[in-house]
Amino acid sequence: MSPNESNAVPMIEAEGLTKYYGDFIAVEDITFSVPKGQVCAFLGPNGAGKSTTMKMLSGYLAPSAGVARIGGFDMQTQRLEGAQLLGYLPENGPLYSDMTPKSFLTYCGRVRMMPAGQLKERLEWVREVCHLEDVWGKAIGKLSRGYRQRVGMAQAILHDPQVLILDEPTSGLDPNQVQGVRELILQLGQSKTILLSTHILQEVHAVCSRVLLVSQGRLVFDGPVAELGDDGDAMEAKFRELTRSVADAA
Ligand code: ADP
Repeated sequence: MSPNESNAVPMIEAEGLTKYYGDFIAVEDITFSVPKGQVCAFLGPNGAGKSTTMKMLSGYLAPSAGVARIGGFDMQTQRLEGAQLLGYLPENGPLYSDMTPKSFLTYCGRVRMMPAGQLKERLEWVREVCHLEDVWGKAIGKLSRGYRQRVGMAQAILHDPQVLILDEPTSGLDPNQVQGVRELILQLGQSKTILLSTHILQEVHAVCSRVLLVSQGRLVFDGPVAELGDDGDAMEAKFRELTRSVADAA
């Protein structure tokens, strides 16, 4: 039995994850696990280590210490198996500026070895749910940040993965686009396990059930959204308190 066939196996796991850039410790001994079906927010001030942690979870960056697992697969030693279960939206997506959304997403599907019929269906689906119809044949380099972000999102969900790691999926979007992406995440969250980073606290209430908060590379809070506050203002106060106490203690 492969690890992900058991319901008991967490879909996303960080075990003692640590990352040094030279002498600087960007992520320090972070441990958490996200069970199947949970939508979890990954919060923290700029530079807290969110993107670095997400890159390690996705297998794009080797940890200095610790293990990252997706569906039970170690993302260093069993990356191919883990990657099949995972859709990852990086903070600055590797989008090829000369390609169109259509050619880029077709290429992504082929790299993932999706059968032609399935790829055709999924391309039509992501074009619709990510609202890419108007830019389907335009060069990605000429698209607005909002559209590029949606192409990145389409790439992450194209192969219908069970797990999504989304690094700031609404950054750079206007309010209407933010609403559209939130609705998409809510829809996806009904059947998938999601870890998403954001700096918009209201967003957390709208889509997540659990919050992980990092500050200066360390995990300083892990609990239900309600424990962090009832609304955006209360959460912001708690967020500042938790992230300040780490800065003071350092
Ligand atoms: P966040 O996503 O929470 O804003 P990051 O994970 O991007 O934080 O960065 C964490 C820390 O690591 C920051 O201080 C950042 O400047 C530093 N950092 C990130 N990437 C590199 C890198 N490639 N080389 C050196 N330092 C880096």
